[in-house]
Amino acid sequence: MSSEPQKFTVGWLYPDLMNIYGDRGNILTLLKRAEWRGLNAQLKEIQRGRTDDLTDVDVFFFGGGQDREQALIYDDLIEHKRDHLEQATRNGAQILAVCGGYQLLGHYYQTADGERYNGIGLIDVKTEAGKKRFIGDVVVQTNIEGLEPSTLVGFENHSGRTFLGGTATPLGRVLHGRGNNGSDHTEGVIQNGVIGTYLHGSLLPKNPHLADHLISQALKRRGGASLSHLDDSAELAAHGWILQRAQRR
Ligand code: GLN
Repeated sequence: MSSEPQKFTVGWLYPDLMNIYGDRGNILTLLKRAEWRGLNAQLKEIQRGRTDDLTDVDVFFFGGGQDREQALIYDDLIEHKRDHLEQATRNGAQILAVCGGYQLLGHYYQTADGERYNGIGLIDVKTEAGKKRFIGDVVVQTNIEGLEPSTLVGFENHSGRTFLGGTATPLGRVLHGRGNNGSDHTEGVIQNGVIGTYLHGSLLPKNPHLADHLISQALKRRGGASLSHLDDSAELAAHGWILQRAQRR
């Protein structure tokens, strides 16, 4: 048994362009919670252009971006990242994708002016922007087995309306807010090792249970590791505060 601490690598897609509404907090949370469990936590920034081998990445993070930023990266995602992400998720790596990133992992994102940015079709969803933006707190009752608490809280700000195809499962049901499209009460998606969501804020600092779910899912491909308990009282107090605020509104 090597005494070397197990490596845990987070891959951050387009950190310069797809990173809004505090998305960076998700990176810090994944790295810190892995480090606090004695893992050798590493960050790999993945920019535009030809990409080296990504098979060492355990969890990919793909943040949000305005239409302008999405227009700057969607071609690169198809040309230089699609094959890597397909192979990585087939091998058990996880992807957390928020808003603009979530949309481009689907079949396409169409702006309010009708411009279409093709996605990589890793998840069976399509998104078309509406005229009115969905902005505000969101509370979701998740479909993830055994997640405790079973709610996720965050903040949404998007014009896109996302619709799930027949092979995709929603991340959960909207208890407060608009979610995927403001009409079918679904939020996000879970499919092929991808968790897609409209929850910014950032998401993971107020939902440490989801961060641990991603870390333990990803470590399964390295033989698995049970994660030691952490004192999340501050994180869960923030979670509870958003729950109460949403209920008051
Ligand atoms: N540009 C996309 C939309 O408006 C995504 C926005 C975001 O990432 N917050 O829906």
